Amino acid sequence: MNSIYGMVRQDNPYILQVRVPVPYPLQYVNAYLIQGDSGWTVLDPGIHSPEALELWEGVFRTLGIGFGQLERIVLTHHHPDHYGLAGYFQHKSGAPVFLSEWGRRQADDLWGNGDEAARRLWRLFRQHGMDAPMADAMLPHMAGFVELVSPRPETAPIQSGDMLQLGDGLWEAVETGGHAAGHMSFYRKETGEMFCGDAVLPRISPNIGYMPGVEEDPLASFLEGLRHLGEYAVERAYPGHRDSFQGFAKRCCELIAHHDRRLGQMEERIGAGPCTAYECCTGLFGTRLTVHQFRFAMSETLAHLIHLEGQGRIRREERQGAVVFFGASRNPTASSLLRR
Ligand SMILES: [Zn+2]
Ligand SMILES: [Zn+2]
Repeated sequence: MNSIYGMVRQDNPYILQVRVPVPYPLQYVNAYLIQGDSGWTVLDPGIHSPEALELWEGVFRTLGIGFGQLERIVLTHHHPDHYGLAGYFQHKSGAPVFLSEWGRRQADDLWGNGDEAARRLWRLFRQHGMDAPMADAMLPHMAGFVELVSPRPETAPIQSGDMLQLGDGLWEAVETGGHAAGHMSFYRKETGEMFCGDAVLPRISPNIGYMPGVEEDPLASFLEGLRHLGEYAVERAYPGHRDSFQGFAKRCCELIAHHDRRLGQMEERIGAGPCTAYECCTGLFGTRLTVHQFRFAMSETLAHLIHLEGQGRIRREERQGAVVFFGASRNPTASSLLRR
């Protein structure tokens, strides 16, 4: 593998990984260029920032191609680091952009609907015990994404099971939820290759995102997705972050085990004394987090608590407008614990 202008060649000479910078701790997102006889497919072009555009200019110059050679743009999911440049690339190339219907709806809701989604998140976090200054900081933070995903693309829908052309090959779209509702991975049976976006990542655990009104129990759907993806015969996986990897089914099992452990930790924490999701979150992830990291940590915590609640391992009660979680045992009662 060699690397120039953020491009990392893969064993498959028709697939090029492009490391597009993102302004988060993850540092970069993997876009993929897939070469076909009549043009190129771009998978997840990255975020719309001057740094990302500069990188793409270098990539196109090195390859001797232009926007005119882009045949299609395919998105695994709607998160800004993957989706952000799709509209700009479409504007420049006229290429169709493929995204799941769930993905399109969430993108419209998050960035095409004023601050409605951000306010919903604010209410959710306040209800779950986040202090006002931190919750207030979520509003400008969320608004800051709009320019990173503009202009937004016109999208054509992809459904699970669709066979989509990437380069010259046909790839099966596989939908799994939990990290992002409507997330699509793409599998090519002939070669055992899988573009897995953020559904399965090597070395890091994909964030489980709880958003009101989307998936009721995102962790349940994430775990179900891992079991489903783990059944595919995968020789080489191309993730949305970090390096391409082998041992895909094993990685799916590791992530399931990771969440089992985390569920156990949270159940134990709540068993030791009732607490809000925010208290549980800061207990587990600490308080020295950026606004961005706090949003991810809270979503992750809520996803686990909702899952534990669904399994009957904890329960919630509302106290003075805040949701408090308790161990599942009814004895001692919630009110007697609160009086202590
Ligand atoms: Zn993502
Ligand atoms: Zn990502």
